[in-house]
Parts: sequence; C-alpha cells; structure tokens
Amino acid sequence: MTSPTQTRRSPMVAMLETMPPASKRPATIAVPGEEDIPVTLVRGRARRPVGAIIAGVHGDEVEGVVALGELARDLDPSSLHGSLVVVHAANPAAVRAGTREHPVDSGDLNRAFPGGDGGATPRLARTVAGNLLDGLDALLTLHSWSRTGMAVPYVEYPAGSSEIHKRSRGLARVLGTRFVEAYDWPSGLLPAEGIRRGIASAEIEVGGLGAETPSGRGAVRRAVQRFLWFTGITAGAPEEAVKEPIEIRRTTLISSADGLASQRVGLGEWVEAGEPCVEVRSPDGGVLASLQAPRGGYVGIHLRFGWVEPGTAVAVLFHPERSSRG
Ligand SMILES: [Zn+2]
Repeated sequence: MTSPTQTRRSPMVAMLETMPPASKRPATIAVPGEEDIPVTLVRGRARRPVGAIIAGVHGDEVEGVVALGELARDLDPSSLHGSLVVVHAANPAAVRAGTREHPVDSGDLNRAFPGGDGGATPRLARTVAGNLLDGLDALLTLHSWSRTGMAVPYVEYPAGSSEIHKRSRGLARVLGTRFVEAYDWPSGLLPAEGIRRGIASAEIEVGGLGAETPSGRGAVRRAVQRFLWFTGITAGAPEEAVKEPIEIRRTTLISSADGLASQRVGLGEWVEAGEPCVEVRSPDGGVLASLQAPRGGYVGIHLRFGWVEPGTAVAVLFHPERSSRG
C-alpha cells in the first residue's frame, strides 16, 4: 500500500523510522495531566508499510487490550516486513476505571476525534490523533461492545466509494469475522478521522459485557494476523483460508415498554420476519411488549439486559445484503 500522507509523520511514526531494522521497543504517548498511553513500536525489516492497531479507546472493552498486549509481547520483529505501532490502551484512565467513558469528564473518546481543548476527552483525542495518525498506511481499532451489551464478532468499515473506502472494505473483509458492515460513521470516531487523513481503516467488535475470553482473544489474534498480512506488513498467507463474510445492514429494536428485557434469540441465530427477538416483561412474567424482526436477519447484538424503558435500544438485527444467508 502507498500512503497519501507520506509527507507528514506523526511522532510515533517518526520514532519507528529511527529504529534499527527488526527491533522492538516500548514507548509512551504523554498526555498532559494524565497517565501516559502505553505503546509498543515494532520495526520490521523495512520501515513501510506501517500500520497501527489500537485498543482501549473504551475502558470497559478489555478483550482487545489483553489480546493485543500478548501479541505485541510475542511478536518477533524480524518476522515483519513492514512496521507496526501498537497502542495498548488509548484511554488509560478509563481502562483503570473500567468505564466506557473517560472518568474525568464522562466523554466518549470514540466521538471526540480529532479532538480539541474543551475538556479531558477532547484533549486526549487530540493527543492520540496528533501523535499517531500521520504517516500510517492502515489503522485497525479494537472494540468490545461495552459493559452493557454483547455482539457477535463483526467489522465496520466506512460507507463510501473512494479508493480509501474500497481499501478499507477490503481490509474489513479479510479480518475473519462472519459479518461486516458498511457504516456511515458519525464524526468523532477514530477510524473516521483515519479515513479523513487518507488511512485505510476498520473497526472490529469482539465480545462484550466487559469480559475477556479465550474465544475473544482468538478472534482478536486472527484479526491482527490478517491485518498484518493484508497490509503487507507480514508476508505469507494466513494460517486459515479467508472466508467470504456476510455483508449486512442493521435494524435496531427499541423497547416500547417499561420492564425487563428478555433476549429470546441467541447471538448469531437467524430470525424470520415477524418472529419475536426480545420480550419486555414485568417481573412476574407478563409480556408487556414483543419486539419482532421487521425482516429476516441474524441477531447481531444484545444491546441491553435488565431493566429497559420506552425508547431503550435493546437488540440489533443483521440483515444480509445479498440473497445468501452465508
Ligand atoms: Zn467501543
């Protein structure tokens, strides 16, 4: 891959370029008034291509943080052609607190890019973006659907038809998840800022409920290996064949009642149009609302468990884009 931003170098990319071939070192991104962001720089035999993988943007999504830490620790730099910036925890204070939002100002870091001056979260976003993005060829962000929900592994890529959108879609499709989604990212997402700067970008969601599991680590490990392969940072084919993912569009099911959400369909299971996905129940079992599939789809995300109110988003259906259910 060639980068349209090759003329500018972020401090992390510039530091990589001064390292000897086939070397690895810890680094930090200093955040004024806050804990430093832990980074590992892995310089392969060549400086480029250079990718970045980032975990811990949301502090309660630890699946990626743990898996990425293991991968960075074990990665042999002499096995890499290109180079890699590993950002272990983009929001260290939130990881420490176990919260999605920044504990200082309750901001959502993944809605704050490219950042600014207006509080702890915009300042953190500006620091991360400024120290990382310029000079990257590709970007992968690792997420895990927060403490309140759980998702089947899937990848979002930016909806659009430019060259950079197409490369991002290509990246998303090889990461090893069953589902991928073209998404109209709201401004403020880190990968949306990557796209704006001409960097192929994708965001993977693995797991949820604040958990960290063997299967989640496996999904993250596979995605990271595929990222390195697709971007040309490693040579050689992936260990397992790359299967065609299912392109999906989502429907969000919203509660119309006050009560307990009961998820009636398991994650990844298919529901036909008109079948109930969620029931909202009174504690004594009365069905107060039945949220049905408007058309056939897979249950992709259990957004909420426990008490919900009218207007609460409780589940997401993934509708295949093509006729095949995959
Ligand atoms: Zn997240």
